[in-house]
Formats: sequence, structure tokens, C-alpha cells
Amino acid sequence: MRPPPRPSAWVTRPGDFSYNTGRLRCPTCDGTGQINLDVQFLPDVDIVCPQCGGHRYAAEAAQLRRGGGPTLPELLALTVDRALEQTADLKKVRTRLRTLADLGLGYLTLGEATPALSGGEAQRLKLAAEVDRDQRDALFVFDEPTAGLHPLDVQVLLDVLQRLADSGATVLVIEHDLDVIANADHVIDLGPGGGAAGGRIVATGTPEQIAAHPGSVTGRCLAPGPARR
Ligand SMILES: [Zn+2]
Repeated sequence: MRPPPRPSAWVTRPGDFSYNTGRLRCPTCDGTGQINLDVQFLPDVDIVCPQCGGHRYAAEAAQLRRGGGPTLPELLALTVDRALEQTADLKKVRTRLRTLADLGLGYLTLGEATPALSGGEAQRLKLAAEVDRDQRDALFVFDEPTAGLHPLDVQVLLDVLQRLADSGATVLVIEHDLDVIANADHVIDLGPGGGAAGGRIVATGTPEQIAAHPGSVTGRCLAPGPARR
């Protein structure tokens, strides 16, 4: 019997590892992990690809291992936190994974499908590509980035926003979260109420100045104050 071809026969460039366009993608589902069943008289149904079991790669990919480590499909099923343990010797990979973990995304798998991400997760994922670059002259605008975050994760987010500011960026955040407001350099308080009862600039200044402003509802909430970091 002829031995199976060597991996180098299928993989000639980094793009071959992509399940979107690479040569290692599952030929049955074209790397989507799903196939569309055309059921007569009924709406089409998407089912998990029977060839790859949803992991998007052809059988050859299961023969590629880095050292004694996981195969490519196994690697993509790892969470960022687990992958950090597996890639201790790869400085560049580690740095990028560390950024994701610092952003509070350590629980996502490497192969996580982006449509499955929440708005907050998607914003932080985009941020991961930006932190620690020189950001002079850059302006970041965030619309309620704390939506759906646990208070501990808000602290993580604040650290990241601070890193952006430290690398020279201007960071503009539209937010109700008092911890975020209390950590701003400058606050523009819109009100005085919500919806139709708002829309005017009530107060501007540092969080301390907002807290001291008699007409600011936000200021009243800031006054006893979450601790300034
Ligand atoms: Zn497939």
C-alpha cells in the first residue's frame, strides 16, 4: 500500500491553513462546517457537515501536529487561556493571545465564529488588534462597550482603554457605567433626563466637577463616588 502523502504535499504556504480559502479546508462544506439540506416543499435546513463534523477541515488536517501537540482542529477548539499554555515557546503567538486574555476574552475558542460574538465581545476583539501599537493621532469611539459585562470585566476594559490612551490615542466613550465615567479625564453630561427629556449638555468637566454640579443627575450618582483609580 502506498503511504499517505507527506503534509508538505498539501501545505505550501500559510494561507493553506485557512478554513476559508486554504487547501486543508473540508471539501464537502467548503470550510463552513455546515451543509445546506434542500428539503422538498420545506424551507432549507443547515446541518453540521457529516464529513468534518463541523470543525471545517479535511481529514488531512488531523495528521498535522505541532510537535506532540494538538492537531489543527484540536487547536482551534482550545480556549485562548488553554492555547496560552500550549504555545509557551511561541513568543509572537503568545503576545497576541495574552492581549486577548487581558481583554477578558480568554474563554473564547480560537475557532470561535464571529457571528456568535456579542457586541461587546466583537468590540474587544477589534481592540485586540490595536492595543500596544503607537496610536498617536488615533481617535477611538466606543458606544457602550460595557454592555453585558460583569463589573470585574469593566475593570479589565478600563485597563485596556488606559493602554490605548497611554499609547497616544484619544478615547471617546458613550456610556452610562459609573466606573467608566469616574475614570474619564473629561465628561460631557447629557440630560437632564432620559429620551425626550434629555439631549442638552448639562455639565462638562472632570468627574469631580460633574459630581459638584447641582443640576447633574449623573453628578449625584458620582458624588459618593466609586473609588478613582
Ligand atoms: Zn465539512
